[in-house]
Amino acid sequence: MLQIVTGTCFCDSCVTAAKAEGFDLKAAQRAMLPLAGWLSTNDDLAGEHYLQLLRASNTSAEAVLLHHPEIFDWLKFRCNSMTRMFARVHDTVTSIKPKIDVRLNAFIYDAWKLAGIDCTALAPHLGSIRSSNYDEQEGRIGYMEHKRQFLLAVRAGAGDDILFLSSIGIRPKATPELVRKGVVISSECGADGLSLGHYDGALLHLLEAIGDGLRDADVTVR
Ligand SMILES: [Zn+2]
Repeated sequence: MLQIVTGTCFCDSCVTAAKAEGFDLKAAQRAMLPLAGWLSTNDDLAGEHYLQLLRASNTSAEAVLLHHPEIFDWLKFRCNSMTRMFARVHDTVTSIKPKIDVRLNAFIYDAWKLAGIDCTALAPHLGSIRSSNYDEQEGRIGYMEHKRQFLLAVRAGAGDDILFLSSIGIRPKATPELVRKGVVISSECGADGLSLGHYDGALLHLLEAIGDGLRDADVTVR
């Protein structure tokens, strides 16, 4: 989480946008600069010592945020900025074509709020969400719970009503067993549809496993 302080924008437009929501971006920049310096070089022995202690400790994310409230404020600003952008895009395109579907391609599976993606705030400005999780292609059955957690995180954030598509990784490193499992997990997590990534590299038996998974999940395909 600390790594995020090493890259962001502090231009006048960002400072003005932050000020409009009561956030002093310049003050946050001053507060984050020492951390960014420690993370970027190992010249500062005291800073390096602090980071080594932190990394080897069981300090929680909450504890870090309490100690660095400017990071929390900045994360909120990043989420608000992304949400405003989606809202503008959604308002504009639906004013031209009311039934158009503005879809979030959700391709960050862990710590996505660090990237400003807040599904709860975004949901009213989206037509649908597509998970781009292809954990099947990791080739490991133990990894499939990671897929389940991500799909559940989307539902927990965006709610049960939004149209939600899951994707299945069907590249050669996946196996029929994993593809089948991925389809069942998608169904169990409330996916409304499936997309396949990426069928140009898929083997026939992996495509057939999609059908097997749909039968296992006992779903209706329309
Ligand atoms: Zn900027």
